[in-house]
Amino acid sequence: MSIKKEENGSMRLRWPIEDIVAFAKRYAITHGLLCLIPDNLDQATIVPFSLYPSPYSYSHFKFIWSIQTAYNRLYNRISLDDEILEKALSPVIPLDDFVERLWKLHRNCKRRQPIQLDIYRNDYMLDTKVDKMRQIEFNTISSAFAGLTGIVADLHKAILHYGIENCHVRELKLDEKYEKSSTIDLILPNEPLKKSAEAMIKAFELYNNENACILFVIVPNERNVCDQNALIDEIQKLKPNIHFHLKTFEQLTNELLYDEKTFNIYLKSSYDEIAIVYYRAGYIPDHYINEKCWLIREYIEQSRAIKCPTIRSQLAGCKIVQAYLTNENIIEKYINNENLSKNIRSTFASMFAFDNNQTREKYINLLRQNPNDYVLKPNREGGGNNKYDDEILKLIENKENHLNSYIAMEKILPPKCTTCLIKPNGKHLLHVECINEIGIYGTMVTNVDTNEEYINDVIGYLVRTKTTDTNEGGVATGYSVLDCLDVS
Ligand code: ADP
Ligand code: MG
Ligand code: MG
Repeated sequence: MSIKKEENGSMRLRWPIEDIVAFAKRYAITHGLLCLIPDNLDQATIVPFSLYPSPYSYSHFKFIWSIQTAYNRLYNRISLDDEILEKALSPVIPLDDFVERLWKLHRNCKRRQPIQLDIYRNDYMLDTKVDKMRQIEFNTISSAFAGLTGIVADLHKAILHYGIENCHVRELKLDEKYEKSSTIDLILPNEPLKKSAEAMIKAFELYNNENACILFVIVPNERNVCDQNALIDEIQKLKPNIHFHLKTFEQLTNELLYDEKTFNIYLKSSYDEIAIVYYRAGYIPDHYINEKCWLIREYIEQSRAIKCPTIRSQLAGCKIVQAYLTNENIIEKYINNENLSKNIRSTFASMFAFDNNQTREKYINLLRQNPNDYVLKPNREGGGNNKYDDEILKLIENKENHLNSYIAMEKILPPKCTTCLIKPNGKHLLHVECINEIGIYGTMVTNVDTNEEYINDVIGYLVRTKTTDTNEGGVATGYSVLDCLDVS
């Protein structure tokens, strides 16, 4: 950690802490680090954030950064490999209606668009048990916060600059040689927004109709509007003529037109042809409130529009696929560089499923004896779904046997740091013990017929920080706050 400390461990603040918090909140509000209030969608509040960047080892960060383009390729190829997807998903398809439905839809839809656009976020924690970065999950749909994470990096720079005595801050360029400094705080720059916009524009150009539009599929009462609009603004800065529409599945049931001859899709109101469908919804069953919503997903999948992601790519992000990769020799099939495969493999924590009758009892006993050493995860997204500690024991003893729709994952034990969490309505937590989860964003634009990679890039990072007594993650769910890194 390079932020200078007094002997008692606290920083030499230039202002009283209340003034620093007030400065930070004003900064967050004026720079759009905001989301809407659930019960009043005309009003916004701050997205929770940390007051200072978290100290982090540069070499660990650099390592996960260096393997991201290989990870992008791996997930892109898995999404195209029906045999692997089917093998990996087959234990949960009979048990999980949502995964089954997505799988059947994927199998029934013909591919009419060779261009695939993916915006991934690969999440990790540093595991102190082995001093290695371990993957938490690989997100292939609705990888949020690329629009806000850069604001937090700028906010931290401003706080360190104005609010801390004798603090010299400098951005460390990622390709620059890192030299440890006891007098300078090195903050990592973060530009996932610009490069997400570039990937979307590339896909738009490949669709090859300048008058077409981009459709964001959002959830009803969407709160994370600043994050989404930041992406729209960034695209419009680069390509002012692109039109955008933001619609829920339910709205699309009245407004989407599907041309069965050309396989183009349009919006009724404007007759705008849709070039790209970008999903910020559709990753949990509740987003499909009726059968018509599922029909919309089917029309889009069948259409010529470019989807971010396709159903096959969404399925590749299921946790059971992650468990499958951990236990089979798949990555070597797609990453033909021994060192890269080894490095990717080094990020895998132990994972297991319960479908195999020969190992099932053994795994259940492991959980029974050490429930605190594992996390049970269903194939869902969005946070708040996992089971921990006593909940694991309850699930094992439950006669209805829901266990098979979960996968078990070894619990990662990240290092602790002390920071201040700034939350709406003054519910701040000052100087609390916290842990960090780091997400690396990656973009891919490919032609899946020819395997051409137009873009395969590592574009930025997300830091989410939460108190050590919180099991779950997620900023939208209120568990964690947005953060940034101070490297040493
Ligand atoms: P989701 O798709 O719902 O975000 P995750 O796999 O990311 O599912 O799990 C949610 C949160 O649970 C993570 O953000 C992390 O805080 C915690 N978590 C998940 N897996 C582990 C693990 N193996 N060890 C420790 N914490 C974990
Ligand atoms: Mg997820
Ligand atoms: Mg997650």
